[in-house]
Amino acid sequence: MPVLHFIFVTKHEQNRAASGRDYNYVQRMAAFYGSWIREKFGISYEVRCDELVANPRGVFDRINMHTLVRDHEHRGKETYHFYLTYFRPIWTDCTCEGYHAENFGMAYWQSPKDADISEEDADLFFAEKNCTVVSHQILHEMLRMKGNKRHIQDVHDLWTKHVFSQLEFVQYDGSHKVTEERPSFLVVDASALESG
Ligand SMILES: [Zn+2]
Repeated sequence: MPVLHFIFVTKHEQNRAASGRDYNYVQRMAAFYGSWIREKFGISYEVRCDELVANPRGVFDRINMHTLVRDHEHRGKETYHFYLTYFRPIWTDCTCEGYHAENFGMAYWQSPKDADISEEDADLFFAEKNCTVVSHQILHEMLRMKGNKRHIQDVHDLWTKHVFSQLEFVQYDGSHKVTEERPSFLVVDASALESG
């Protein structure tokens, strides 16, 4: 079974409590994407989730896109590695703050500024700011794998509709079901793409 491995990249000095809250969401989001990909694209991944902490005295003293590409190669290119990072991509063709290559994904991870934010509000923040960008990158990779030659442009046209033309993101609840209620996860509408 192919492996989809999410890696939450944090700074050494990052606020522990806040990153615990974020990582808790990352783990739930990783499981969600396992079922979303199975449902939408018919691929069953074994989903893994880890943290990678930049350590000023360790191997990963400074993590950047180059070190992530090397990390991906070192861990094994046959695994789909998806990095959630505290820095923005320095090079990307994307219209959002993410990057993708074969079996490689990256998204800039945003945290709520308000330390007293409720768990529910934090989840909604993560869904809107981060989960949507992750879905953009995963859709690139799924379409690429399926041999869609226009996968860059198709995803970006779809993204433009979401961001500028009031096409709604698809809302999922904590049980990975589509919901009209407050969502736990928000993703690009891949069905809008298939229908042109
Ligand atoms: Zn893109």
